[in-house]
Amino acid sequence: MENKTIVVVGGVAGGMSFATRYRRLNQDDHVIVLDKGPYVSFANCGLPYYVSGEIESRDSLIVTKKEMLQDRFQLDVRPNHEVIAIHPKTKKVTVRSEAKTFEIEYDTLVLSPGATPIQLNIPGEASRSGIFSLRNIPDVDAITDYIDTNKPKTALVIGAGFIGLEMAENLKHKGMQVTVVEKAPQVLPPLDFEMAMHAQHELERNDVRVVTGQSVAKFEGNDAYLEDGTHFNADLVIMAVGVMPDTKMLAEANIELGMRQGIVVDKQFKTSEEDIYAVGDAIIVSHQVNGKPALVPLASPANRQGRQLADILSGQAKEYRGSLGTAIVRIFDMTFASTGLNMRQVDADKVQEIHVLGKDHAGYFPNATDIQLKVIYDTQTETILGAQAFGQKGVDKRIDIIATAIKANMKVSDLQELEFTYAPPFGTAKDVVNLAGYYAENMIQGITETIQWHEIKKEQEKGTIFIDVRFDNERENGSIENAIHIPVDNLRCKMGQLDPSKNYVVYCHSGVRSYNAERMMKAAGFNVKNLDGSYALVAGLKDFL
Ligand code: FAD
Repeated sequence: MENKTIVVVGGVAGGMSFATRYRRLNQDDHVIVLDKGPYVSFANCGLPYYVSGEIESRDSLIVTKKEMLQDRFQLDVRPNHEVIAIHPKTKKVTVRSEAKTFEIEYDTLVLSPGATPIQLNIPGEASRSGIFSLRNIPDVDAITDYIDTNKPKTALVIGAGFIGLEMAENLKHKGMQVTVVEKAPQVLPPLDFEMAMHAQHELERNDVRVVTGQSVAKFEGNDAYLEDGTHFNADLVIMAVGVMPDTKMLAEANIELGMRQGIVVDKQFKTSEEDIYAVGDAIIVSHQVNGKPALVPLASPANRQGRQLADILSGQAKEYRGSLGTAIVRIFDMTFASTGLNMRQVDADKVQEIHVLGKDHAGYFPNATDIQLKVIYDTQTETILGAQAFGQKGVDKRIDIIATAIKANMKVSDLQELEFTYAPPFGTAKDVVNLAGYYAENMIQGITETIQWHEIKKEQEKGTIFIDVRFDNERENGSIENAIHIPVDNLRCKMGQLDPSKNYVVYCHSGVRSYNAERMMKAAGFNVKNLDGSYALVAGLKDFL
């Protein structure tokens, strides 16, 4: 068989995973990797940490050197080569490099051009310096040069998604006074409000100012003005309001595009044009939970897709199963992570949400910390739809387990069957993921009933009585307004004093003691529910109850 020419556009996560795997499976074909930037195979995800110096060496951002890609993989790697047009009929791409324009022929074209930061073009932007977005090494060089030269004291991060908050943390570590402005009502939009509020608290605890529900209306010099007229100094501005597929080069190519100009592909990454395939941030994938089209600009799907496409083009019968959007971020001492769908993406009438508080390792062993885990599941099918968690340690492990459970089509009550490594320094004999399985099964069997934090007010208006079953000392840091106090261990004797014609909601710190209280009261004939997430969750939400 004649050797083929495979042209790859984009030499980072998806493109380079494709190219190296393809080479391992096909030693003879000519593989040309074109990238418009000066570097290939670099660590986009490490860039925010280089700004603060936590990643010290700029060199370490370049994961694999061009020379190694040539020597070991015999890839024809060409940085500073931008594909400006694609001609599917003649099977050529037009390339611009060093002011020259020329064409390259392909047998197969693989597109992995990634996503580009969305620009807002805020009035006043053009007449000031120090506004950046962060996508690649030249961007991070520009930011660090600006910091070294201008010594900014104040920074504004526009957008509180993962990259925005990573930048906020790293600029704070760099000694700047940082403000984050987010148009949505909460930071970290992939999470649900009650979980994301804890991220906002962690930012504020670390002296990062957070403004939600506002956008920047204009700049006047280095002052940023918000829609409500408040203004503050911002020597350095990072624009991190999301990304969109970088598909400009496809303008004339007649390749089918969909949401936000993302490339439409089938399950084998084939575009609407013959012999043209696409992977990574630029493609529209199917969400693995609900099958809906989605843009999931994350490194793990991009790498997986690149490798799978290499397998497919080497004759293997593979199909992409979809993306879950599993993601994680460190915010100072806390970690926030999620997988699957959040409550805004599901039909609230058909799902149940549960919040479980556990420890990263045995509570009696030194330095155990809390993990707050939320699981959303379909009440009819018991399918796990999504999960979110935050805490200081072990959050990654729990969300990774649930992401794996979703991929394995496990039902929510199956989480109790998972068997983990356990010794006191590492975990607990009943991991918080197991607890979620026990809890869900109790819900499904009707052993426990719950209300959510956002239903507290409505219940109180209906006359429902809240009982705080915590111990006296726990109430020093606050309690739910108008709740009566009966510590769980006194409840059996005091139940006789309660009016059986009323409805009750019980709560404690984590929901465990109140669950016991609920069972006691139910057995005695009371109409009672447990407050899901209990005070540990609600404490951070008092302004919103
Ligand atoms: P990219 O890796 O972006 O590569 C695309 C390449 O194509 C670029 O080098 C670009 O120059 C090139 N290109 C584009 N158009 C052309 C053209 N016309 N001609 C030639 N070359 C072209 N994901 C996570 O999962 N976890 C994280 O912690 C995380 N952190 C991130 C932090 C930052 C600052 C950024 C920017 C991204 C982060 N991501 C993270 C996202 C992750 O980097 C991407 O999902 C992943 O790199 C996508 O791979 P890709 O191959 O689709 O695109």
